[in-house]
Amino acid sequence: MVSAKIDMRLFSGIATSPGIAVGRLRVVDRQSLTVEDYSVEHDSINSEIERLRTAIDQTRTELEAIRTRLAEDTGSDHLIFIETHLLIMSDDRLFSESAAIIESSLINAEGALRRTLLKYREYFAGIEDAYLRERISDIEAVIERILLTLTGQVHGPISAEHGRTIVVAHDLTPPDILQMEKEGIIGMVTEAGGRTTHAAILARAFRLPAVAGIDDVADPAYDNAPAILDGISGRLIVYPGQATFRRYLKLKQRYENDELALLTSAALPPVTLDGHRLELRGNVEAPEEGQFVLSHGGEGVGLYRTEMLFMNRQEMPEEEEQYRIYSAMQQAVFPHPLTIRTLDAGGDKLLAGTRLNVEQNPAMGVRAIRLALAMPDEFKKQLRAILRVSANGATRIMFPMISGLEELRRARALLDEAQRELAAAKIPFDRAIQVGIMVEIPSAVTIADLLAKEADFFSVGTNDLIQYSLAIDRSNEHLAAMYQPLHPAVLRSLRQVVGAAHKAGIPACICGEMAGDPFFLPILLGLGFDELSMNASTIPRVKQMVRRCSRERAKEIADACFSFATADEIEEFLKTQIAIHFPTGRK
Ligand code: PEP
Ligand code: MG
Repeated sequence: MVSAKIDMRLFSGIATSPGIAVGRLRVVDRQSLTVEDYSVEHDSINSEIERLRTAIDQTRTELEAIRTRLAEDTGSDHLIFIETHLLIMSDDRLFSESAAIIESSLINAEGALRRTLLKYREYFAGIEDAYLRERISDIEAVIERILLTLTGQVHGPISAEHGRTIVVAHDLTPPDILQMEKEGIIGMVTEAGGRTTHAAILARAFRLPAVAGIDDVADPAYDNAPAILDGISGRLIVYPGQATFRRYLKLKQRYENDELALLTSAALPPVTLDGHRLELRGNVEAPEEGQFVLSHGGEGVGLYRTEMLFMNRQEMPEEEEQYRIYSAMQQAVFPHPLTIRTLDAGGDKLLAGTRLNVEQNPAMGVRAIRLALAMPDEFKKQLRAILRVSANGATRIMFPMISGLEELRRARALLDEAQRELAAAKIPFDRAIQVGIMVEIPSAVTIADLLAKEADFFSVGTNDLIQYSLAIDRSNEHLAAMYQPLHPAVLRSLRQVVGAAHKAGIPACICGEMAGDPFFLPILLGLGFDELSMNASTIPRVKQMVRRCSRERAKEIADACFSFATADEIEEFLKTQIAIHFPTGRK
């Protein structure tokens, strides 16, 4: 038999998480659900009702299987949302009301389910209690799942069926990545997204090689195809030829050896050639990452994204649970400081169940501090948990997406209330806890001098600051080239923030992805940032760059950048400077 030779295919995209994965592709459909309503004949009523019954039973069986699988993974917090969905399914009204609609309106099971959902939506919209009103999202999620079963569209968990699995999808959400990590998946490719989406940030945290922005790659024809994913140069090679395969095995080995070598020097102090010390800290999402920050040479945590604790579940975590989890993180990084950012949900970090609550413009919607201030009781639970943790070691608190002083004052007022409540209950906390803000909205840059008088530190979130300054959606793959950290407007903003902070005598930190790229180090050091916080895996490379730089030289480079008018010119200049002065820098 003559076997047909399949041609190698090369795709180029945006490298979002470094590393090389060699395995097989698993194409998953994460597109939106398509459902059609149609009328049925009178004598088809019984068979339509039977379809509905079967779909509900099958969906329940699937959910039970997921619950069993997650339960085996001890300590998982994901069970609550499955339990809630199973509870809704155990109520037979969903079936009986939809069956009655099939009978009375002569429509198919899908249409009937959607009408039942409309009825529930109307009913829930009239509930006064905001929390109970929100529970409609659980019912929406359950009905969506049944509709998927009815229409034969699979949207289940992503599993590593073929062993060394590289997942390919149109888009992936942070909960998808959390779940993929548990499955041992080795890489991910998406059509959508860019370097600073939360899915990409999580992929880096889990050291999962990833490439985004490849058009039309989530084609079922590639399912199970052998492939190489190069998260360093942003390539996907499907059906690699033998020579390519061998070359990549070598590259993978070299990359892993380099990483190991860097790790051995990670413990050296982050001091420049002219003796200036820069604080290098880690950005973390999950408690197990604390240890990882220290082993990569970070001295504490500059950004703990607590929202991951609120995702993949329907109930908000109670104060006790939050305290337990924040304490674990603190112990992991002790005696170094832990900077806890309060809930920054919304945008591309939707809480479970809110997926169907579509906002016209989520990046500018009810997110981050706005969401927290809209639910003061839940917010105070988090503040109390953080305050309690502060009694046991250096802890800083940080509010996300502050746009003006009103928000900062309202957040501080709730913090004061939380402090009074703890004091009344004689529960210890650090009364001098440092309270900082994320500077990531252009208005905060413009009034940085005013904010600096009422904040104990600034931490610049360049991921959002670039997005809002340039009006470029950070997750839009078609605009990735225009998402420019070196845009003169961004550099001027950074200079303004550092200037305002230092004038007020407070430290200027930076915790956006820019901080983790050694290429930008000379500029950030030269502008005068005191602390850089980044994905732990990038600390060794950035530290190596710090140790090669002198602050004086970095200042000259940063100053000179302001004489150029475009990001491209600045990038060219920086490349040349790095090649001359710090030869092994990236690019
Ligand atoms: C940022 O915006 O730069 C940041 C660090 O926060 P996040 O990426 O979580 O929005
Ligand atoms: Mg942000």
